[in-house]
Amino acid sequence: MTLNAQPAASLFIGGRPVEGEGGALPVLYPYTGEEIASLREASAGQVAEACRVAARAQPAWAALAPAERGRVLSRAAAIIRERNEELSRLETLDTGKPIQETLVADWESGAQALEFFGGLAASITGQMIPLGRDWAYTRREPLGVCAGIGAWNYPSQIACWKAAPALVMGNAMVFKPSEETPLGALKLAEILLEAGLPAGIFNVVQGRAEVGAALATDPNVDKVSLTGSVPTGRKVYAAAAEGMRHVTMELGGKSPLIVFDDANPEHAVSAAMLANFYSSGQICSNGTRVFLQEGIRDAFLDRLAERVRNVRMGDPLDPATTHGPIINPAQAGKIRAAIASGLEQGARLLCGGPGEGAFIPPTVFTDASDEMTITRDEIFGPVMTTLGFHDEEEVITRANATGFGLAAGVFTQDLTRAHRVIAQLQAGTCWINSYNLTPVEMPFGAVKQSGLGRENSAAAIEHYSQLKSVYVGMGGVDAPY
Ligand code: NAD
Repeated sequence: MTLNAQPAASLFIGGRPVEGEGGALPVLYPYTGEEIASLREASAGQVAEACRVAARAQPAWAALAPAERGRVLSRAAAIIRERNEELSRLETLDTGKPIQETLVADWESGAQALEFFGGLAASITGQMIPLGRDWAYTRREPLGVCAGIGAWNYPSQIACWKAAPALVMGNAMVFKPSEETPLGALKLAEILLEAGLPAGIFNVVQGRAEVGAALATDPNVDKVSLTGSVPTGRKVYAAAAEGMRHVTMELGGKSPLIVFDDANPEHAVSAAMLANFYSSGQICSNGTRVFLQEGIRDAFLDRLAERVRNVRMGDPLDPATTHGPIINPAQAGKIRAAIASGLEQGARLLCGGPGEGAFIPPTVFTDASDEMTITRDEIFGPVMTTLGFHDEEEVITRANATGFGLAAGVFTQDLTRAHRVIAQLQAGTCWINSYNLTPVEMPFGAVKQSGLGRENSAAAIEHYSQLKSVYVGMGGVDAPY
């Protein structure tokens, strides 16, 4: 078995692979630390060139009939599905996530986005506004060049979620994947070209923060869509504001998952495990503050401790593995520091702990309080903090006592309570008796510090287009002079 994942070149500009002229960017397989590809960052000149190429190509793409653009995306979705196995393997090498996950959750989710927006293309229309003799209409127009900047946890899904609505609206895109996971976006560029996308409409540059910052402030860029942490979001939003650029910010979270006494305990445990341990906990919308009502607390924790034993940690390419390594040693170190702080501040471990090497096992804290660092800060690893509560009003107040506002979940059999509680939670994406499912049909996004704008669904179209209003005079013009 070869672990060579070297692409044709590091960047993709103007419809062809181009070697980067910036610093070295080795790609390491998180499971073994082995170098699987050796890339180079884009130089400042190459970032500017990618944006110029995109700006030049964009008007002709925007002039096509929307259905023609949609067809390209639909074809790309079909190609991804044909190659899902090979692409998923690459995603596993890039991220270290178990192949069991990447086969169903990464490129497949990207294909769903391309398919959805491809199908939507022909039905995106404006409004006709009758005004008596005169009338007005609106046109939904592209923004121009959109910059996409990705995080490392779902690299190919993020690239597709940003590219699909942007391209269907007639924009061009320059995408910078995370420096940790640069490979999937290059495959997407090849696939889109093969599906009929004109050269220059989807470009990929590589690099670290500096390259991202250059992209976010390039004079040819009209919109910046970032998936990343809150601190990065603040910087990118501020940089984009200088040029009055549009933004979408998909940032971090510390989301509450509230389990009431009457919840189905088995399903609630399943959801809490998925909400904390899938992708080794490296998911922005994870329900990492699990609030347990007194009456269900003990049964929930007993069952959780039992079921954690079923987690299979190990080789990500083994189809039986359900828990992979952490993306890199630095991130594993941050997670371990968070676990240590939980113990220092008096929380107890139900299971798990710091682990060894690249692996951190599913870790559950009990006896935690709202003030502890493990309850307040995003850990971005497989660490669940459980907290007790007495009543509805109390748990809503405590769930909302955070600067984050990405997601929230409620488990209860009481129909009215479910909707009443959800209505009061400060979160952009919520689940009732479910968690972390993000179908493309449903808008996904955040409130408060966790971001703004929406991905997926028809709502995403608004964030990759602008409205032009046109007043049509049907008679003479009355003037007082
Ligand atoms: P990060 O913020 O470190 O980096 C994200 C991206 O921004 C990377 O491509 C990075 O190179 C780039 N970047 C960093 N500094 C920049 C700057 N000053 N200007 C421009 N670009 C810059 O995040 P990460 O560690 O890659 O990912 C983990 C974070 O992402 C977590 O906080 C997680 O919650 C969040 N996330 C959010 C979502 C969502 O949809 N809301 C999805 C996945 C991950």
